[in-house]
Amino acid sequence: MDHQHGRLLLVGGAHGNERTAPWILQCWAAQPGLLASPLPTTACIGNPEAYGANRRYMDRDLNRCFTEALLKDQRCAIREVVRARALVDTYGPRGHDPHDLVLDMHTTTAAMGSSVVVIGERPADLAWAALVHQAVGMPVYLFRINEDHPEECGFLVRRWPCGLVLEVGPVAQGIVDTGTVQKTTACLEGVLAVLGDCLAGKARLPETMAVHHHLGSLDWPRDSAGRQIGCLHPDRPQWDWTPLRPGDPLFLMETGETVPYQGEEAVWPVFCNEASYGEKGIALSLTRRDTITPPAAGLEDLLGLLGSQPQNP
Ligand SMILES: [Zn+2]
Repeated sequence: MDHQHGRLLLVGGAHGNERTAPWILQCWAAQPGLLASPLPTTACIGNPEAYGANRRYMDRDLNRCFTEALLKDQRCAIREVVRARALVDTYGPRGHDPHDLVLDMHTTTAAMGSSVVVIGERPADLAWAALVHQAVGMPVYLFRINEDHPEECGFLVRRWPCGLVLEVGPVAQGIVDTGTVQKTTACLEGVLAVLGDCLAGKARLPETMAVHHHLGSLDWPRDSAGRQIGCLHPDRPQWDWTPLRPGDPLFLMETGETVPYQGEEAVWPVFCNEASYGEKGIALSLTRRDTITPPAAGLEDLLGLLGSQPQNP
């Protein structure tokens, strides 16, 4: 294999019932002129079996299966772990067909618009996110890895030297909605344009960028049998990305009672009412809004990856 540039892996359908990105990739295959990628790019369906079944996953959430321990455990036959291993063995940085960057494209049922998720705050990821934020204006959500909570780890993007997650919503699970297709396509075009700028030597980091640091998540109010007994309070017309202050209405209970937010400072909710998080006991996640300086070293890392030779030719 001989190539000048780094290679990009585009993943759609890591969750099989999020059908927007697979549809875009399918259209792109049928109409190669639809999108122009400035670097060698491979598209793949993250979880083909779940996609075929129109389910989020078969045995386990694929996007929690990329832990070292699970990937190494050859006896583990959970279908998503087997799939995760195959993706890393094929497209991982030391795979048979190595790729340097990955974009993992998802949708959410939450009304949070388009956003970029950075998992673990690696400098190259932050730099790429900052360039995308600057070009497309999407909010950036920083999810810190906590190895003490394995259920929060094992994200696909972490197995590549650099990777971002795209989240676009709101859209119901299991359908192709043209508005969401257009929004996701616009984000993807922005991501590709940014990489083109990097290759052309034109990429400049913004001096600052607003980021939303993951703080934690809240479950629904439940009774002793685990039954949900509250919903998001209707007095907040916009939940995602808008500050929730101490004393603001949080949940409306089945009794009609209002439960206020009892934190000590304002937080910015995200993934409010994400349908697939019910089983994880998550009604919404809370973030802290900060302004950071994107790391210049991260841009150097990103440029290095884009110009890198395959490690396993
Ligand atoms: Zn997803």
